Amino acid sequence: MQISSMHFKARAGEKLADVKLQAALHRLQGNFVKGRADRVAELENFEEIRTAAAAIRDRVINNLDLYLEEFERNATARGAVVHWAETTADVNRIVCELASRYGVRKAVKSKSMVSEECALNDALEAAGVQVVETDLGEYILQLAKEPPSHITAPVIHKSRDEVSDLFAKEHQRPRKTDIGELTREARELLRTHFLSADMGITGANFIVAETGTTLIVTNEGNGRMVTTLPRVHVAITGIEKVVPTLEDLATLLRLLPRSATGQTISNYVSLTTGIAQPGEQGPQHFHIILLDAGRSRLIGGDMQAMLRCIRCGACMNHCPVYQSVGGHAYGWVYPGPMGSILTPTFVGLENALELPQASTFCNQCSVVCPVKIPLPDLMRKLREHQVERGLRPWQERVALALWSWCAQRPALYAWVSSIAAKVLHRLGGAERLIRHLPLVSGWTAGRDLPAPQGKTFRELYARRNR
Ligand code: SF4
Repeated sequence: MQISSMHFKARAGEKLADVKLQAALHRLQGNFVKGRADRVAELENFEEIRTAAAAIRDRVINNLDLYLEEFERNATARGAVVHWAETTADVNRIVCELASRYGVRKAVKSKSMVSEECALNDALEAAGVQVVETDLGEYILQLAKEPPSHITAPVIHKSRDEVSDLFAKEHQRPRKTDIGELTREARELLRTHFLSADMGITGANFIVAETGTTLIVTNEGNGRMVTTLPRVHVAITGIEKVVPTLEDLATLLRLLPRSATGQTISNYVSLTTGIAQPGEQGPQHFHIILLDAGRSRLIGGDMQAMLRCIRCGACMNHCPVYQSVGGHAYGWVYPGPMGSILTPTFVGLENALELPQASTFCNQCSVVCPVKIPLPDLMRKLREHQVERGLRPWQERVALALWSWCAQRPALYAWVSSIAAKVLHRLGGAERLIRHLPLVSGWTAGRDLPAPQGKTFRELYARRNR
C-alpha cells in the first residue's frame, strides 16, 4: 500500500465534506462503541483482565527473543517451517519463492494487515499468481481496487448501495440490494476459488510459544477454508504477536473480540498447529513468516508500549478524529490513534508529520485500549521528537520561539498579552465573536472565537485583590 500520510490534512478536509462517508462512519457508534460497552459490562473483573493482559504483553516484549525461539522450536517440531523476515520486501520474496517452489497459480487469502503492510498482493500478482481475498470486506475492496479503511471492518466506508453497484458490475449479475443476497452471491463465487487454490495465506492474531500454534479470529469462516483446503498454508505475522502459553492466549481472547466488534467471542477461533497428519484434512506444507519491519527497534525506546497492541481497533472506533475523517485520510495501513503512532514509527516521522497531531487528546483511546497503551502520551512524545528534529513548519517554530522568549520575561509577557487582549476585544465587535483570525484561519473557518473582555487574567486578578 502506497504511503500518503503526509497529505493527512488535505485528505481530512476532503473526507469531512464526503456526505456518504459521514453517513457510513455513523455505523461505528452503534455496532462497535455500544457493542463494546455492552460486552465489557458483562465482565465484573474487566479491569483486572486488562491489567493481566498488559502484563502478559509486557512480559513477551521484555523476553521477545526467548519466546520467539521457543515458538520456532515447537512449530518446527510439528512440521511447520519458520522464516524470519527483516523487511516487508523479505516477506514478499519468501512468499513468491514458496509460490514458485510449489507451482502455485492461485492463492486465497484471509484478512491480514501485515500483508497490507507488505503490499503482498502486488508482489504475488507480479510473479504471476492470482490472489483472491476471501474476507467479505477485503473481497469488496479488491473488486473496488481500494485499500482498507479500518483494521477490523475494512469496508466500513462503503454503503450497501455502493456494494450493490460494484457486485452488479464486477459479477455481471442482476443488481441485488439485500445484504443476505449480496453475501450469498460473494460466497458462491468464492467457493470455487477455495477449491481451486494451491496456497492459502493468513495473518495470525497471535502465535503461541509453548505449542508452536498460530491463531486467527474471524467471523465468516473463510479463515478455516484458507487454512485447510489448499495444500500450502502460509501464515504471516509480526514478531510481537507471540504469547507464551495457551492460558495467556485465553486471557487475551477475553478482550480481543469484546474490544474489536463488541462480541463475547468471534464466530470462529482457529488454531493451527503443524501440518496435516495422515488421515487428517489440512495443508501438506505450513510456512510461518515472522516480520520485524521496525518492530524490534521499538524495544527499549519510548514507543515500546506500542508493541502491546493486539490490533483490536477499539481506539479508532472511539476516536473523534477517526469518527470524523475515516481511515483513508491517514494514508497507510493503520489508521486512528494506533496508526498515528505506528505509521510515523514504521515509515519515518518525516513521512507522517501530521499524524501525531491528529488527536484531540481526549484520552478515550487509552481508556478503551484493552492492553492499556497510553496512546496520547506516545503521540505527545512523537510531537516532542518532531520539535527536537526541527520537523515542524518554520512559522510554527518561529512563533513558539518568540512565545518562549517572551514568556521568560514576565513584565514583557504581561504587556504583550494586555495589548493582545485589547486587540481581540475590538475584533469581536458588538457581537463579541471573532469570525476570522489571521494565522489561525483554519480554526476560525469552522467556528467563531468568543472575544475576550479586553483584560488579561492577571489584570482581572490584580483588580479583584485591590
Ligand atoms: S492500540 Fe489498543 S485499542 Fe488500539 S488497536 Fe491496539 S490494542 Fe486495540
